[in-house]
Amino acid sequence: MENTSFVKESTTEDTGFLSLNPSTLEVIGKVNNTSKEEINATINKAKIAQKLWSARPDSERKEILLKVAEALQQNAQQLAEWITREQGKPLSGPGSNFEMQACVGWTQVPASLDVPEEIVFEDETRKDVLYRKPIGVVAAIAPWNWPLMIAIWQIIPSLRMGNAVILKPSEYTTFSTLEMIKVINSVLPEDVLQVVTGRGEVGSYLTAHPEIGKIMFTGSIATGKKVIEASSKNMARLTLECGGNDAGIILPGLDLTKHIDNIFWGAFLNMGQTCACLKRLYVHEDDYEKVAKALADYSSHIPMGDGANEANVLGPIQNKMQFDKIQDLIADSENIGADFLFTGQKPDSEGYFIPVTLIGNVDNGNRIVDEEQFGPVLPIIKYKTIEEAIAKANDSENGLGASVWSDNIKEAEEVAGQLEAGTVWINQHGAINPFVPFGGAKQSGYGVEFGIEGLKAVTVPKVISIKK
Ligand code: NAD
Repeated sequence: MENTSFVKESTTEDTGFLSLNPSTLEVIGKVNNTSKEEINATINKAKIAQKLWSARPDSERKEILLKVAEALQQNAQQLAEWITREQGKPLSGPGSNFEMQACVGWTQVPASLDVPEEIVFEDETRKDVLYRKPIGVVAAIAPWNWPLMIAIWQIIPSLRMGNAVILKPSEYTTFSTLEMIKVINSVLPEDVLQVVTGRGEVGSYLTAHPEIGKIMFTGSIATGKKVIEASSKNMARLTLECGGNDAGIILPGLDLTKHIDNIFWGAFLNMGQTCACLKRLYVHEDDYEKVAKALADYSSHIPMGDGANEANVLGPIQNKMQFDKIQDLIADSENIGADFLFTGQKPDSEGYFIPVTLIGNVDNGNRIVDEEQFGPVLPIIKYKTIEEAIAKANDSENGLGASVWSDNIKEAEEVAGQLEAGTVWINQHGAINPFVPFGGAKQSGYGVEFGIEGLKAVTVPKVISIKK
């Protein structure tokens, strides 16, 4: 890998290979594809390291991971600056400092949880004990939207349960991830955690390798399906966290003053480039004008620009591919005669900025509603009855998250019970927690991360059955 650190280039050519600062389009470095031979060697080293790592007492692994959390905390400022430089999210607000605090928390929690053996059956004739054993070598394939936090979600539970990990960061956020891995590896024993870099073909070779026992994948549904195919070669266990197109339903009469900030950040966290962002907002027709105005007023006060400037809390789109995809959905909305209820201020910059945009007069069946926009553009859809809102919210191949907004929690719970999603939040959206299992329904993926369930997911169950 060659780090040409901060050569100013106006070109946007081959943005998947050159890692760019999306606020300024400065080149951060050139990401090389790890060769097949190097991947094979990495896997061989991981196999040896994993044997030693899993042979250590559990208490030692916990202790080491708590030291990793301390190291991440000590280096949080410089790593946050790396995230802002390469991923784009601002240092301020729910941005890169926030991402680093999440990295620390999501390291501490798996390090403090236990998965003890269980007696699953016992009578006078036999006793059956269930143990959770490490799987071996885990391939972790990470996306670019929360590059450090999601890598942590994949790495730490896997290590905690005695596996070795080979991480392939997104080609768009390689350098910030490598900085974090340096910090983690200053604590870990050698080769327990290694990195390979490059584009999809590197992930493809790694995930299909016969020595990989588990794949932790976070990314798009299309790539998730390729990972499933790869696992048909090695029977690797899978945890797939794929895209979402989360619906939010505001029940009639909501007191917006209490909720507008949570609705805004539910939709626009990380410029909407969050798997579990609110991506379609269903509002009763009597409340539509009021909600659109309240969201527009709130949005007009949220500064967007280069995230290195701490005055900004919204930043750019991370890459050109995503920027073009969002522009295309905006153009399609224009073509079908949608209402542009609000368009925010775009900074005067050559970076990949798209202003906060609220779109009305659209419905299921329109691309901006049916497709995951993964950007700062929110369609607001009118409904007449709750049944209609529920049916439209469920009318999607995705089922990651959803939310219901109401001052009447009982009514909200009734609606939440009917939504097809891995998590339904009430009066919040995307409020994940390291103790609480998180995963998708339908094509948003399978398997769960976080909490005890997340730890079990990086183990293989083993029963010892004793005749009495
Ligand atoms: P992506 O699918 O393009 O890439 C994800 C990762 O997969 C990258 O590291 C990429 O290099 C790698 N990859 C590409 N082709 C591969 C292949 N054939 N085999 C193995 N690896 C391959 O996704 P992205 O653009 O980085 O991320 C955006 C998408 O991820 C959105 O759809 C978003 O909703 C989803 N996402 C989901 C979650 C979740 O928890 N559900 C979280 C974040 C992002």
